[in-house]
Amino acid sequence: MKKLFWIFASLLFVSCAKTNLPSVQNNSFLIGEAVVYAKHKWKIKTIDVVFMDGKDEQRQSVKESAVLWSKFANIDFKFHDYEDLEKLEVLKKSHLLKSSAKVSFFGNANQSVIGQRVGGLRASMTLPAVTGDVRADRRVVLHEFGHLLGLGHEHQNSRSGGIFEPKMIKQMCSDFHLDEDDCSQQILGEVSQYEATLSDYDEKSVMHYSFHGKYLKKGEDIEGSSVISYVDALYISMLYRGRFKTKTELESAYQDMLSEM
Ligand SMILES: [Zn+2]
Repeated sequence: MKKLFWIFASLLFVSCAKTNLPSVQNNSFLIGEAVVYAKHKWKIKTIDVVFMDGKDEQRQSVKESAVLWSKFANIDFKFHDYEDLEKLEVLKKSHLLKSSAKVSFFGNANQSVIGQRVGGLRASMTLPAVTGDVRADRRVVLHEFGHLLGLGHEHQNSRSGGIFEPKMIKQMCSDFHLDEDDCSQQILGEVSQYEATLSDYDEKSVMHYSFHGKYLKKGEDIEGSSVISYVDALYISMLYRGRFKTKTELESAYQDMLSEM
């Protein structure tokens, strides 16, 4: 029963701790070349995002990076400051809060719910690592907004064939203070093909964590990307269709984004 509860609890949040470890594994649905929880995709065109706290520069930094997803996903973000919600009627305020993504800059880890499951009045995303330096913040913001759109962790794509060096797994768990169960759930767990449609593994995905090479079979570090990979862009454009009529248009938009980085 305890385990079952843990699984349910883990479904809601994907924690992306400072440790850069893979996060909670669950019965995700994988498709295409990204790990995608398709059933939790947003059913609306514009996602309201409320800043529950934070300084202006932190909020601005989030806005600047989050909108990069909108270049490919046919989805828009409408940002609100909590202070402005105070001016709304009680019912309107409550409705907006329950249906919006709610960002707090406090918390122990950078994390977000996956997809549209943002109900309730508490923060659905915490971004303690965001300081207001757009360039430095970009990876965290893109990663967590990737979760918000419905993406999971690319390093949990079992089509990778297993990236971790078996002999180092115990050491890695110990280094990051994870007990055996958590380590098993967060690192070793892969989505089976019974549970998912899997395609190629994309090491460059912004949804992939950074790992020191000593933990990896290939022995080289994986540096978590700070830009949306082409595969990320392709997949999110398919999940939220409508930005492009042809793949050439997507490729062109992708090159434009890179040149603006
Ligand atoms: Zn994550």
